[in-house]
Amino acid sequence: MIIVLLGPPGAGKGTQADRLSTKLGIPKIATGDVLRAAVRDGTKRGREAKAYMDRGDLVPDSVILGILQDVMTSPAAKKGAILDGAVRTVPQAEGLGTMLKEIGKKVDKVLLFDVDDEELVKRLSGRTVCEGCQTPYMGREPGSICEKCGHKLVRRKDDEPEAIRNRLEVYRRQTAPVVDWYRNHKMSVSRIDADAPVDTVTSRALKALGREKREEGRGKREVRK
Ligand code: ADP
Ligand code: AMP
Repeated sequence: MIIVLLGPPGAGKGTQADRLSTKLGIPKIATGDVLRAAVRDGTKRGREAKAYMDRGDLVPDSVILGILQDVMTSPAAKKGAILDGAVRTVPQAEGLGTMLKEIGKKVDKVLLFDVDDEELVKRLSGRTVCEGCQTPYMGREPGSICEKCGHKLVRRKDDEPEAIRNRLEVYRRQTAPVVDWYRNHKMSVSRIDADAPVDTVTSRALKALGREKREEGRGKREVRK
C-alpha cells in the first residue's frame, strides 16, 4: 500500500508516519529526513538542498523526484511506503504517479492532516528533534537524550520564526494545490482533523485507511493538551 501524507509543517505527519509504519508494517519515507542526512553527509544532493531548507523553501522538484525514484524502486519499498512530506508540488505528484505506473504501482490513499496556523506555530516553535533518528519531540529541551536511540535532541534551523512563516506561506502557495490535484485525478483523499491528542489522530488515520473501526478513546473523556 502506498500512502501519501499531506499537511502543513507541524501538522504531525512525521509523528503519525512513525506510528502508522509500526502498525501497518510498511516503511516510512520522509524526504525531509533523507535531505537532512544528505546535508549532514555533505553529499552533492545535500549541498544543493541546504540553502533552500534553511530558508524554509522547497528543494527543486528534480532533487525530490531523484530521491523518490531511488526509494520507490528499492527492495525496502516492496510492500509499499508511507510517504511523509514527499509530495509538495503538483509536478512532484505527477512525477511520482508516472514513475509508479512504470513499476505497476499507484498511490492508494492520501491522508491530509489539518491543523490551524496558530497551533502549527506553537508546535514548530516547541519542537526538538533527535539528531540521530529524527524523531520529533514536544516540550523537551535541546540537549536532552532521545528515548529511541540515545542521540541528542536539537532544534531545527527551519523552526526559527522567519523560516516557519515562510514554510506556512510556501505550503499554501505550492503544496495546498496538490490536494485538489489528487481529488481531480480520482484519488481517495481523507481529511483528518489533526488538532487532537496524538493517539486520537492515529486512530482517525487508521480509520480513514479502513484499518480500525472505532476511534480510540471514544466513550472515554479525551485529555486534550
Ligand atoms: P510534521 O512532520 O508535519 O512537520 P511533526 O510530526 O514533526 O510534524 O510534529 C510537529 C511537532 O508537534 C513535534 O514537536 C511533535 O512532537 C508535535 N506533535 C505532533 N502531533 C501532535 C499532536 N497531535 N498534538 C500535539 N503536538 C503534536
Ligand atoms: P520536513 O522535514 O518534511 O519538514 O522538510 C524539511 C525541508 O526539506 C522542507 O522545508 C524543504 O526545504 C525540504 N523538503 C522536504 N520534502 C520536500 C519535498 N517533497 N519537496 C521540496 N522540498 C522538500
